[in-house]
Amino acid sequence: MIREFTYEALPMRVAFGAGAVRRIPEEAERLGIERALVLATPGQTALAGTARDLLGERAVGIFDRARMHVPVETVAAAEAMAAGLDADGCVAIGGGSTIGLGKALALRLGLPVLAVPTTYAGSEMTPIWGLTENARKQTGRDPAVLPKSVIYDPELTLALPAGLSATSGLNAIAHAVEALYAPDTSPVISAMAERGVRELAGSLPAIIGDPADIDARSAALQGTWLCGACLGTTTMGLHHKLCHVLGGKLDLPHAQTHAVVLPHVAAFNLDVAPDARSALQRALDTADPAEGLAELATRLGAPRGLAELGVTDADLPAVIEEVLASPYTNPRPVTREALERLLHATLHGGPVTT
Ligand code: NAD
Repeated sequence: MIREFTYEALPMRVAFGAGAVRRIPEEAERLGIERALVLATPGQTALAGTARDLLGERAVGIFDRARMHVPVETVAAAEAMAAGLDADGCVAIGGGSTIGLGKALALRLGLPVLAVPTTYAGSEMTPIWGLTENARKQTGRDPAVLPKSVIYDPELTLALPAGLSATSGLNAIAHAVEALYAPDTSPVISAMAERGVRELAGSLPAIIGDPADIDARSAALQGTWLCGACLGTTTMGLHHKLCHVLGGKLDLPHAQTHAVVLPHVAAFNLDVAPDARSALQRALDTADPAEGLAELATRLGAPRGLAELGVTDADLPAVIEEVLASPYTNPRPVTREALERLLHATLHGGPVTT
């Protein structure tokens, strides 16, 4: 069967390497940033200081109050600081929360973002922004928020705790799994997704064994880049929808939620997505990719049931209603019965079933 597709590459620039953080000034100069505001979470203030020192006179300040899900209050505070300091660009150094704040400033003030990711979430590769107001997260796509340049330095990930490395890595794999069966997938995406999953699945167990293994960290970060690029150019399905609703409604941690849900949705969808299944069989070196993902999560010590994140049976009906209420693309139709079965298995970390 000849499959039609449209592929539009995003204008991404990537500088990769151990010690690449030292290229921050050079990349900022390339982007014409002369007055950078450095963004970070409170836990990564020291790293923000490193970025500021590297930038020297090109830095005007540090905003180190980035928070998960980009609350509008945080954006307003960062916006005021950027305006007060007459910043002409941001250096977002950290995980998806910090890069999300950079994107919000790009959206509101038009500031270019230089992203320096330190987790495997992959936000730096996407034009997707998110903003949370009154406990509701709104998301959208806008080419203006795509970071203008990304520096991947595996040395910056050495401090990422083993638990977060595991769940963040599974979060990255989820982007590739859904890209493989996305309606707008293409040969470029399939190649990136398969390679991305192979890099992460191969390196994460080594990272759990030794978080300071720089070769494994390097492979995982390359996988992150590829999986993030898949997320940036395709339409996600049931897995991302479910994680979005679960995270928003029940205030669950982002990476852990992805880690728990992924094997179950993969089992549900791969049954009707033979090409995606074949790619994942090769990437994970297993006949049953959904089972392979469940085994990988167990091996990494990641949470396996939503109950471990504090979810109860009583939480599920509202989640199911919200998922069913807004249509989204998915290779397999999502009926109420199927969703109930899937969520109950996910709640208790039961075996993955189709
Ligand atoms: P995060 O950015 O919230 O980081 C989690 C914690 O880990 C933070 O406390 C952070 O300071 C710390 N941390 C990060 N890197 C570290 C390191 N190397 N060493 C030690 N500590 C480190 O978590 P995340 O999972 O990277 O990002 C989640 C957020 O990103 C969510 O809000 C999610 O919706 C968003 N996201 C957006 C996109 C997109 O395309 N827009 C994609 C993926 C994720």
